[in-house]
Amino acid sequence: MGKKESEVYQMLNLAEDYLLDGFRHDHPPLAPGSAAEGGSTPSRQQTLEHIARQVADCTRCALHRERRKTVPGEGAIDPLVMVIGEGPGAEEDRCGTPFVGRAGQYLDRWLAAIGLDRNSSCFIGNIVKCRPPGNRDPLPQEITACLPYLKQQIETLEPKAILTLGRIATQILCGRSEGIGKLRGQKLDYLGIPVVATYHPSAVLRNTDLRAAVWEDLKRLRAGPLPLNP
Ligand code: URA
Ligand code: SF4
Repeated sequence: MGKKESEVYQMLNLAEDYLLDGFRHDHPPLAPGSAAEGGSTPSRQQTLEHIARQVADCTRCALHRERRKTVPGEGAIDPLVMVIGEGPGAEEDRCGTPFVGRAGQYLDRWLAAIGLDRNSSCFIGNIVKCRPPGNRDPLPQEITACLPYLKQQIETLEPKAILTLGRIATQILCGRSEGIGKLRGQKLDYLGIPVVATYHPSAVLRNTDLRAAVWEDLKRLRAGPLPLNP
């Protein structure tokens, strides 16, 4: 709210106080984003909902044509960790929620192993918000079109750390070109937010030899940027 509007609002309050009670009450400061405040500083929740609405109507890339539901991402509004996958699969496309298929249930177990939970301490998102047909990799132009949504979500949520799942999420977020085998274990960041990279849970379901490396990465996430250890 501008200074002028704020003054008018205060004068109206004052007038109302006099008319009703004959003296001035103390008023609490206006909550940012509240209707009375004019909504000029939206809350995190409002910003996230706004992004989700934009995604729901988005036709910026060809992936909008075959999607059933958009999957904007969801979780805590004050997350310790932002978890970032590649893009929705068949089940996510059907229900609009990220990581609900087999890989998602596996991911939930990874998070639980280090004391995290997708609803209370994480926000789970994806590089692209609509399903690439047949689960193919998203194309560069699709990633470019969609990335502003994810960037805005990260900026809004200010997570303490980011966990990237798989090559694509890690490469895109950290601006790197190596494979995930090379990237995991490295000190990475996105605009100063520590990034821990690990394998995608789908890859680990296919190749259980990767489990030991994932556990190392999860332990680094827990021991490093997060205040999870006593
Ligand atoms: N794989 C992803 O990368 N993201 C999802 O949301 C589901 C599966
Ligand atoms: Fe829009 Fe992203 Fe969906 Fe493409 S993938 S249509 S950019 S929301």
